[in-house]
Amino acid sequence: MCCCAQTHTGMCPAFQRPSWIPTRLIDLGTRGADTPPHIILTDGLPSQAFPYVAFSYLPNDDEHQGLCEFNLDDMLTAISLEDLPVIFRRAFNIASELQYRYVWIDALCVIRESDEDMLKEVPMMGKVFQHCDLNVTATSADSLLACTSKFDLGGSRNRATFLKLSSRQSRIPWLYQAVPQDVWCDAVVQSPLARYAGYFQDQFFSPRKLHFVGKQVFWECGTLKACEAFPRGLPAQLLQDPLNDNVAEKALRLARMPSEWMMRSRKQKLPAEVAVSWIEVWHQIVGLYSQCIQLDSSAKLPGISSIASEISTLGQDKYVAGMWRSNLINDLLWYIDGTPSHRPDDYRAPSWSWASVEGTIHHLTNLNTCRNFATVLDAHIFLADPAIPTGKVTGGFVILRGFLIKIPAPKFSYIRGPLTAGCFYPDDRDGITDEHYFCLPLRLQPSAFGDYLCGLVLRQKSEPWGLVYERVGMFRCLRGDSLHILGQKKYGLDAYVVSEELENVVDSRPFASDVTIV
Ligand SMILES: [Zn+2]
Repeated sequence: MCCCAQTHTGMCPAFQRPSWIPTRLIDLGTRGADTPPHIILTDGLPSQAFPYVAFSYLPNDDEHQGLCEFNLDDMLTAISLEDLPVIFRRAFNIASELQYRYVWIDALCVIRESDEDMLKEVPMMGKVFQHCDLNVTATSADSLLACTSKFDLGGSRNRATFLKLSSRQSRIPWLYQAVPQDVWCDAVVQSPLARYAGYFQDQFFSPRKLHFVGKQVFWECGTLKACEAFPRGLPAQLLQDPLNDNVAEKALRLARMPSEWMMRSRKQKLPAEVAVSWIEVWHQIVGLYSQCIQLDSSAKLPGISSIASEISTLGQDKYVAGMWRSNLINDLLWYIDGTPSHRPDDYRAPSWSWASVEGTIHHLTNLNTCRNFATVLDAHIFLADPAIPTGKVTGGFVILRGFLIKIPAPKFSYIRGPLTAGCFYPDDRDGITDEHYFCLPLRLQPSAFGDYLCGLVLRQKSEPWGLVYERVGMFRCLRGDSLHILGQKKYGLDAYVVSEELENVVDSRPFASDVTIV
């Protein structure tokens, strides 16, 4: 921490002077004073005077009930240490040892049973981690205990194994330091905590992290990744690898990959800097987030809302249930590539949003301008709290003008009917139970193997206010051949125009329509 404070100036955020503080903090008291730990309400207090440690951990079943409306008054006076889980008590000790008086732990600073408090506090989680001095993370009480039972702030423990080896050429033995190649990846990038959706966005915002992951303590800030075996920094050989990237690095790396691949496939020279658009980074973030374990189903959109809020400032775009208004045609083309998935019973987003599905989400890349076959007439979301546009939603619809093609029930991985060579990616394989469905082509997707026609597979649904549709999956048809169905002919490489010979189109001729999807 001293190294970060003294030598990382300009690279890492400064210590000590937060410009914002959470609604509630835990005051551990000063050394020697007799006041028990208690909660303080920060409204009206000067934020600069309250540097704090934010604590991230993996929740488990035998968890403490946490802060409730009925125990808030008691906790403002004293938090009973005996009633706290071991992991929280250890977190308090670590903060004190590091000379921090204030700590933020979600279970003790947010009233989880109160919808009102959750609506207000959850979207501010990004800020909590952005403004903390330090984020202490622990995968379990055991991992915290294992590290802290001999926790030495002087850093004198050495966790490396040394081997003395001599070569054939020289009889003088050399001293080698032996470490597993995946030491960082195992401990930090792929730790159980990193796979937990509730922790996903904390990682993006913390200026510096101290990971307690079992065998040793790891340090991570904007400038340095270190551990007890390598206190001055992990060697580059152990870090320059996609496996060792943290979530933000991974998103950037993954977003760059399709650009590079497209460039190579077109035999063009790769530019010095491959530009990565914020929308591609967002798609990669959604993809990574969707692979996390979601313990609280209703927190799907709130769990990524702080990142969305940051990106909405960056992209100057309107956020609609996990998607972006100006990029909606492309954003609607998310899909699940054969891995298990399901739609939870509890409503959490409209069917056209990836947030309505539990499963690994992929997006088509948005590298070239593509020909669209539908236009967005309207997209509207009903928010649980209108003040939080990236938060929880209670309903929504999108109206698209396009061609609807009736098809028999599609099977997993292929669709039957007029769209030849069509692949079907169901959102929920068990949900395909109707007799007929509809394809709504959205755009042509360029690829190294030719253009694909891509769109949504929909189910008709009768509502009191009229006929609407629900999304059940995505389809993709090989090359431009399927375009004949739409009465389109291909001219040249990229230009498509509407053909005059509509009679020659197959029987199930599509009809142009304004389609409302809920
Ligand atoms: Zn630093």
